[in-house]
Amino acid sequence: MSKAWGENHVLRGLDFEVRAGEKVSIIGPSGSGKTTILRILMTLEYPDEGIVTVGGDPLWDVKRGSKPRETKQMRETRKKVGMVFQQFNLFPHMTVLENVIEAPVHVLGMPKAEAKERAVELLEMVGLQAHIGHRPPQLSGGQQQRVAIARALAMRPRVMLFDEPTSALDPELIGEVLGVIRELATTTDMTMLMVTHEMRFAQEISDRVVMFDKGVVVEKGPPEEIFTNPSHERTRSFLRAVL
Ligand code: ATP
Repeated sequence: MSKAWGENHVLRGLDFEVRAGEKVSIIGPSGSGKTTILRILMTLEYPDEGIVTVGGDPLWDVKRGSKPRETKQMRETRKKVGMVFQQFNLFPHMTVLENVIEAPVHVLGMPKAEAKERAVELLEMVGLQAHIGHRPPQLSGGQQQRVAIARALAMRPRVMLFDEPTSALDPELIGEVLGVIRELATTTDMTMLMVTHEMRFAQEISDRVVMFDKGVVVEKGPPEEIFTNPSHERTRSFLRAVL
């Protein structure tokens, strides 16, 4: 799969597979295209060329030079994918509960009572049952991000994407969000793909770590290998700079 903005070739023939249930972290320098991979999986961007599938179902199939189109199949496939953004992206004028039931009711057509019941369970799971009627601006960043996680989970996705979910948080709020992600990683069989600068956390929860630079995979492998014995100089220099 490839993606460029003008002369900026962000993804160059990316060929990469995540197995069902696998927890994978993507690491690499800023601007290397990590977020773009997640945005393409969420259909917020399109590839210029290539095939992307989710659970064997087609998401993108774009031939070079052709204009990508939104298809019914794509709309179905993307319901399997949930995403948590750096900046939370909650609806500020809605309550916490309304944020979480919005997509199940309007996208999946779930009855409101059922969506509410599920939302309450999810908000309990992320420790926010006391804030159900609050609006996002009344909450801390860590609480907002936990609402965002509950909102993504409300769609019962098979695949969860996390785009640097703690990078916008004050240091003392990072732990509560990582705690929820850790819980999901260890107790669910969802496939999880996370872009992160939290190297220790990536090492702890990932089955596999992918080092990415300048639009290509530099190397991938189990965390203990990538973090303690990387084979590529580019990975070594990156880790030296961030650890
Ligand atoms: P970071 O760690 O800083 O978030 P990243 O590895 O996630 O970086 P991306 O956000 O995927 O990198 O961006 C890769 C490149 O694509 C950057 O050079 C960025 O400026 C460029 N880019 C991303 N989105 C757009 C856009 N909508 N239009 C033009 N260029 C873009």
